[in-house]
Amino acid sequence: MTEAATATETTAGTDGLVVLKGVNKHFGALHVLQDVDLSIAAGEVVVVIGPSGSGKSTLCRTINRLETVDSGTITVDGRPLPAEGRELARLRAEVGMVFQSFNLFAHKTVLENVVLGQVKVRRVARDQAEAKARALLDRVGVAAQADKYPAQLSGGQQQRVAIARALAMDPKVMLFDEPTSALDPEMINEVLEVMRQLAADGMTMVVVTHEMGFARSAANRVIFMADGRIVEQNTPEAFFTAPRSDRAKDFLSKIL
Ligand code: ADP
Ligand code: MG
Repeated sequence: MTEAATATETTAGTDGLVVLKGVNKHFGALHVLQDVDLSIAAGEVVVVIGPSGSGKSTLCRTINRLETVDSGTITVDGRPLPAEGRELARLRAEVGMVFQSFNLFAHKTVLENVVLGQVKVRRVARDQAEAKARALLDRVGVAAQADKYPAQLSGGQQQRVAIARALAMDPKVMLFDEPTSALDPEMINEVLEVMRQLAADGMTMVVVTHEMGFARSAANRVIFMADGRIVEQNTPEAFFTAPRSDRAKDFLSKIL
């Protein structure tokens, strides 16, 4: 296992915005996260790639505590993840998450989808929340859809609403778990473009994706996972042109 030795080479110190130390997670006998150490700096864009089943989604889900861990620590902005209650709701607001399946509230309008969390979790006044929601919908290019229901929108539009909804909570970090994998090809770019803009604006982002063009153009760092471990990490340029591990070479040979 010489691959693991290179895993922490480009990891920042312990003062990252999101810091995982010695994180382990099992699903029954399956060891899905194995001694994961990861420090993400404020403003950093980290793209996570790796074969199916390597633990990418689980990694994301532990960061906003959709999954608990068996051992190790996770801190966001220096604070350990809260176990439950209002503190957990606040953490989930601070750690925005966008999933492959858009997960909008189907029975609420687009506007309401972006207003709701602000009012319920952030205790923002309704008119203020609406103004912010409209501004965010405009920012992601779906302002004209505000009064429609999610099912009336294209997949690309729905995903942009999901991004606006997460942004409405003023997150410190945004997690994207294969945000374009469920989209028709012609809609992928409109979502990636919103994400590129977000990255350019300085948002801290963790992005699980198979879009290598996005990784090359927007990531500060690429993390390659296999079998629950961070096998290799590097700048996109170095990773794509000179992967070091056999696992990464093999993976890249299949997708590029
Ligand atoms: P990836 O996102 O890289 O495809 P996941 O993090 O989704 O990988 O899954 C890692 C492994 O954990 C897979 O083998 C998957 O089947 C398993 N797994 C994920 N979630 C659960 C769960 N809730 N219960 C049992 N096994 C799970
Ligand atoms: Mg996944």
